[in-house]
Amino acid sequence: MPEFFNVLPPGDALQLLWKHLTPHVQAERIATKDALGRITAESICSPEDLPTFPRSSMDGFSLRSGDTFGATEGIPAYFDVVGEVPMGQPTTIRLSTGEAAIAYTGGALAHGADAVVMMEHTQRIDDTTIEVVRPTAPGENVVQIGEDIRYGDLILPAGHILRSQDLGGLLGLGITEVTVTKQLHVAIVSTGDELVPPESTPGAGQIRDINSYTISALVTRAGGIPVPIALVKDDYQAQRETALQALERGDILVFSAGSSVSSRDMTADIIESLGDPGVLVHGISLRPGKPTVAGVVDGKPAFGLPGNPVSAMVVFDLLVRPTIYMLAGCAEPPEPPTVRARLLRDIASQAGREDYVPIRLVPQNGELSAEPVFGKSNLIYTLVRAHGMVKVPLDEGGLYAGQEVLVRLY
Ligand code: AMP
Ligand code: MG
Repeated sequence: MPEFFNVLPPGDALQLLWKHLTPHVQAERIATKDALGRITAESICSPEDLPTFPRSSMDGFSLRSGDTFGATEGIPAYFDVVGEVPMGQPTTIRLSTGEAAIAYTGGALAHGADAVVMMEHTQRIDDTTIEVVRPTAPGENVVQIGEDIRYGDLILPAGHILRSQDLGGLLGLGITEVTVTKQLHVAIVSTGDELVPPESTPGAGQIRDINSYTISALVTRAGGIPVPIALVKDDYQAQRETALQALERGDILVFSAGSSVSSRDMTADIIESLGDPGVLVHGISLRPGKPTVAGVVDGKPAFGLPGNPVSAMVVFDLLVRPTIYMLAGCAEPPEPPTVRARLLRDIASQAGREDYVPIRLVPQNGELSAEPVFGKSNLIYTLVRAHGMVKVPLDEGGLYAGQEVLVRLY
């Protein structure tokens, strides 16, 4: 029985791979509104103050704060309401002592006003008079010029993944285009004599291809562009030719299946044959996911993921996902979101191996419980039924019921 030599922990495997890779970041300008999830290629500074005029943060009356000093319920301050400042228009009203103007949330103040008193802190006496029953401080309920962001301030650094609030912040300043890094193309080759496309009805001994689709979806999630190349038989020449095509079309090459060490497994040989330095890692101390190949071919990373769909997803998460971000110029690849939960059962493991176990999250007594989804680790429905995965670290023999664990959401 052939064996893996030099099995590395997943973290070490990634480091070794990255030693042979350099980010080749190319930039492009795109519409800000379409830039969700894209990575900034340069830092962005504010071209103007926001807001550009003092804005009321409440519905109420703009006035001179000094006129309200000492006002109480017993001895209110009286104001003549001289008009209103309409939304979206400059004001023509200039206040004198004892005058106030109606102000709306987000609207401008009357000239001469330095504060807004909330509607709730006033009483209407008649059509043109209000009383104010408490003092208002200068600047109260006013958003000052540049209070949101100032001209010249750094908005976002390079290498930042744009979120919805970032798009809003940029567009609020009129920044309608941004320079982002080009998305990487990830070429995906699924191998296996037993595979048929999902549209087909599998014959005896055949199964439908799952990995082309889970991997494509994960590539999209990681900000890359999936390029499914082909389903290929377990035939060396056919796989090698497909791999050459894939290398032309992708910045990253991902093979599914055939990554182990039997005579039917060719991924490692093919990656090795494609260019230098070839295979760097064959076998990682991970379950599921031990039969993994990682290498570099003429500057491009090439992965051989295990055929088992769950293993393929776990290995993608640990090796391919961070590599996509790294090559695209994101200095710190974001970790998937996690939640804390209390483990409901023991999970046995083996020291010297990193284990991932699917977890169902169950709300219980106001906290989250983590129910391991046991079952053969290669079944895709263990993950369909799960919310995420819990890691048993390399140096631990297991996790115990009652322990608080971090669940990585899938
Ligand atoms: P292998 O890595 O070729 O030894 O495959 C391991 C297991 O994963 C086998 O049961 C394969 O049938 C299965 N498998 C391989 N490729 C795929 C795929 N694209 N979709 C679903 N299952 C697969
Ligand atoms: Mg196979």
